[in-house]
Amino acid sequence: MKAGIVSVGTELLMGEVLDTNASYLASQLPLLGLDLQSIMVLPDNIESLAEAFGQAWRRFDVVLATGGLGPTQDDLTREATARVLGEEMSVSPELERDLRAMFAAMGREMPLSNIKQATLIPSARSIPNPRGTAPGWWVERDGRIMVAMPGPPAEMQRMWEAEVMPRLRAAVRREAVGVRTLKCLGSEGEVGEKAGPVFAMGNPALGIYAKPDGIHLRLIARAADDAGAAALLAAAESRLRECLGHQVWGTDADTLEGRAGALLAARQLTLATMESCTGGLLSAIITDVPGSSAYFKGGFISYTSEMKVSLGVDARLIASHGVVSAQVAEAMAIAARRRLGADIGLAVTGVAGPDPLEGKPPGLAYIGIAAPDGTRAVEGRYPPRRVDVKRLVVTHALHLLIQTVQAAPGGM
Ligand code: AMP
Ligand code: MG
Repeated sequence: MKAGIVSVGTELLMGEVLDTNASYLASQLPLLGLDLQSIMVLPDNIESLAEAFGQAWRRFDVVLATGGLGPTQDDLTREATARVLGEEMSVSPELERDLRAMFAAMGREMPLSNIKQATLIPSARSIPNPRGTAPGWWVERDGRIMVAMPGPPAEMQRMWEAEVMPRLRAAVRREAVGVRTLKCLGSEGEVGEKAGPVFAMGNPALGIYAKPDGIHLRLIARAADDAGAAALLAAAESRLRECLGHQVWGTDADTLEGRAGALLAARQLTLATMESCTGGLLSAIITDVPGSSAYFKGGFISYTSEMKVSLGVDARLIASHGVVSAQVAEAMAIAARRRLGADIGLAVTGVAGPDPLEGKPPGLAYIGIAAPDGTRAVEGRYPPRRVDVKRLVVTHALHLLIQTVQAAPGGM
């Protein structure tokens, strides 16, 4: 079944508010087996809305609208829907009572303009909204469905999860769709080549996306029922894991820091960090994971050379190779590991920019890792934007950490 999304609000077209509702809903539709054909963004203008809703109503089996359900004159989603269907809006006494009760509970008099939030058309049923004053509309006619939800993302998402998704699941002709994402280390081209055999499978369909945390391989399987879709996904996933081996670091909602933490915890390894160019960001992200104290002992922000030396980095290494070098990254990792008595030391040193440092270009960084079975450093070169460099260095460091722990035999 075909679906369309309509995002309503002039602020979206002015670039003031990002249309996150559409991307949220778009990510949900495959779970229902709905085939999204279009996303439209429209101003708060009755003519534009009526024209677009009319078009969407004719083209799609399911139309999902968000926004334009507020109490003010420029909130026109109800009016446009009524116009397209040629139906009359009227106040529902029941909804009016609920709305007045909601205002009374907040200790406020209901402004007159809010009464339009209690209106319906004959083909519409109201959808409750415990997070706001605007109920949604569920419109069903001529075998088609149109749903109007409020604009504020928290209200919309709650309404989607609790009300709209379950009703749609029951209403739409069901084809089971399964989605699985594998997250990988490596470059897009290299991962794409290795995944070749799975591209050829067709079902699941494979999509490859370069993301900030690595390369994502997304599988979408379609089958008559859930078990069929799950079996297709499982076969494709094991084929991908054969092709990519340790390059696969996680799946679905996994994060680099969560995955690194889980691996360290599972192998009962502890971690210490020493950071220069990232200024503490690496430790901050490692500690975003609940329970990280089980494996993360702590870290140093050794921003100056003096501090690196005072923590145990040999001053002669800095003098001969420069502070941004593989040798110093390794020495920092060893020092962090030794100072905190951790199993693994992870260190970063780089030129965040915008200016070069000691003749080294902005965007150049070295990541060192010291583990019981040896120490090494890798070089990274990133687009020289200061904030991006810091983030990318952290990502790269977490990749290296995962690789090192994953590759370690058993207990390490
Ligand atoms: P409305 O239901 O049109 O009164 O929308 C209320 C508020 O929700 C707007 O001011 C926006 O901040 C937010 N909003 C509306 N539509 C969207 C959207 N598509 N994505 C994200 N936020 C939105
Ligand atoms: Mg609006």
